[in-house]
Amino acid sequence: MKLDNEQYRIIVESSPNMIWRAGTDTLCNYFNTTWLNFSGKTMAEEVGTGWAEGVHPEDFDMCLKIYLDAFAKQESFEMEYRLKRSDGVYRWINDRGVPYYLNDHEFAGYIGSCMDVTDKVEGQKMRDLAQRDGLTRIYSRQYFEQLANIEFSKAKRFQSDLCIAMIDIDKFKCINDTYGHHAGDLVLKTVAQTINDSIRTFDLFGRYGGDEFVLLMPNTNYAKAASIISRLQDSLDTIAITYNDALIHVSASFGLYQMHDEEILEKVIIEADKKLYEIKENLKNNQANRSYD
Ligand code: GH3
Ligand code: MG
Repeated sequence: MKLDNEQYRIIVESSPNMIWRAGTDTLCNYFNTTWLNFSGKTMAEEVGTGWAEGVHPEDFDMCLKIYLDAFAKQESFEMEYRLKRSDGVYRWINDRGVPYYLNDHEFAGYIGSCMDVTDKVEGQKMRDLAQRDGLTRIYSRQYFEQLANIEFSKAKRFQSDLCIAMIDIDKFKCINDTYGHHAGDLVLKTVAQTINDSIRTFDLFGRYGGDEFVLLMPNTNYAKAASIISRLQDSLDTIAITYNDALIHVSASFGLYQMHDEEILEKVIIEADKKLYEIKENLKNNQANRSYD
């Protein structure tokens, strides 16, 4: 069946997606009815760069860069930004643009299609808020436990190795007392980031509370886990955190435990915590010994 121009017009104008077109000069020269209904503006107001006035100021530079970079290379692009709706409310828009050609080869500009994805973006933000620790952005204790329980069940079912390390910053209170709470926060963030950057993608790392962190290493036996945490300690040893004029050095203790036949994950964590406690006690008694053999 061949569609006539009127049928094509109906399809484009009635599309649930907001559709736009730009010429080779990068300027927009068309918006469909769905777009105009969303923005509450007329075609004359939107064409050229008029539409960009509706883009949230915080998203504008990023938007323009993605658009112009893609344009220069005649590549397709996808971006998300906030666009003002007719009622003045900013909505998250997913915008995908593709170059289009006349006579198969003659670059004529871009055609784009947008969808309101606010519910998805805000849902993700809410999930992120619950899953991540507010300060360090690593997993919160609750979310860590949720994921760790899955790993624990898998390890039991497949009888695979699993190790847990409880990690606690040494003399952290002293850092707070000497340099203040902000410096303490910076130390927590840096330590979390340093460890997070050094672990494998399948390891789980979360903030357990205060200056205590937890690392779960699936499919990892004690010897391998010991070498991993020794490497993590080396990375922590090399960092010097600049705070005002001070350089803060940190160290952390690791209590390592390999899962045996525990029935629940909590028991494994308790065992790792016991190890950590022993190591801390040794440190306090000046028997600093970081060997895990
Ligand atoms: P140890 O060497 O035995 O580990 O002692 P410590 O000083 O590191 O640990 P302690 O448990 O005595 O103190 C931890 C401190 O961490 C106490 C608490 O006020 C502080 N703290 C907990 N959460 C935060 C936070 O989010 N930010 C900052 N700056 N401090 C925190
Ligand atoms: Mg501590």
